[in-house]
Amino acid sequence: MGLKLYHKKRDFEKTREPRGKEKSTKKHRFVVQEHHASHLHFDFRLEMEGVMKSWAVPKGPSLDPSVKRLAMMVEDHPIDYMYFEGAIPLGEYGGGEVRTWDIGTYEAVGDTPVPEQVRQGKLTFILHGKKLNGEFHMVHTPGRQENAWLLFKVKDEYADPEWELVRVLPYGSKKEAPEADALKKLEAQQKKLVKKQLKSAAPRKRATTRRTAAKKTTAKAAKPKTKRTTTKRATTKSKSTTKRTVRAKK
Ligand code: MN
Repeated sequence: MGLKLYHKKRDFEKTREPRGKEKSTKKHRFVVQEHHASHLHFDFRLEMEGVMKSWAVPKGPSLDPSVKRLAMMVEDHPIDYMYFEGAIPLGEYGGGEVRTWDIGTYEAVGDTPVPEQVRQGKLTFILHGKKLNGEFHMVHTPGRQENAWLLFKVKDEYADPEWELVRVLPYGSKKEAPEADALKKLEAQQKKLVKKQLKSAAPRKRATTRRTAAKKTTAKAAKPKTKRTTTKRATTKSKSTTKRTVRAKK
């Protein structure tokens, strides 16, 4: 994919995020960044082919092998992004605080190079981090959303069914109430931006996939909002029901 989309989405006059360049490197580093955008999520990034291949994991990774986390593939990020921490200004793409949650190296499992495994939609790697260790799988599970993957722990000596994710930037406790309020406000303001971010998939380079994605976009654009009560397509039913409930409460 390269960094084209990454650059397109950001105004570097406004954000301190690295502009970055593609760098040829044989290193295999990874980072997990806690990102307090409209919705708190964890950005999981693996270094390969001169960029950080990136997924937004809404609930964050888990060491519990029974837990499969949704991971939305997003645009490739520059290698320097691995060390980025701080605030992305409100109103800018992905606005909110970013903190390193875990950082380390990874190694591929099997003979297939990792970028090739990504293209095949199934990868296995071993993480050597401070929090995350051991073997993990990622599987591309396109369906409702083309960029959807699942991230989960393989059963090994690092697997822990009792494991619970601890945030770097905890908020919501009484002591940190002011910060929590600020973050809530931030969340409300950024909701739309992050929806956009999660929707911006990395289109796979297959003609069939591209056609599917195009069809989806057209269908969505053509559907007028007022028609929601008559929408009875099985795939969108639960979603539209939820939306109606929310609207009714307001
Ligand atoms: Mn993010």
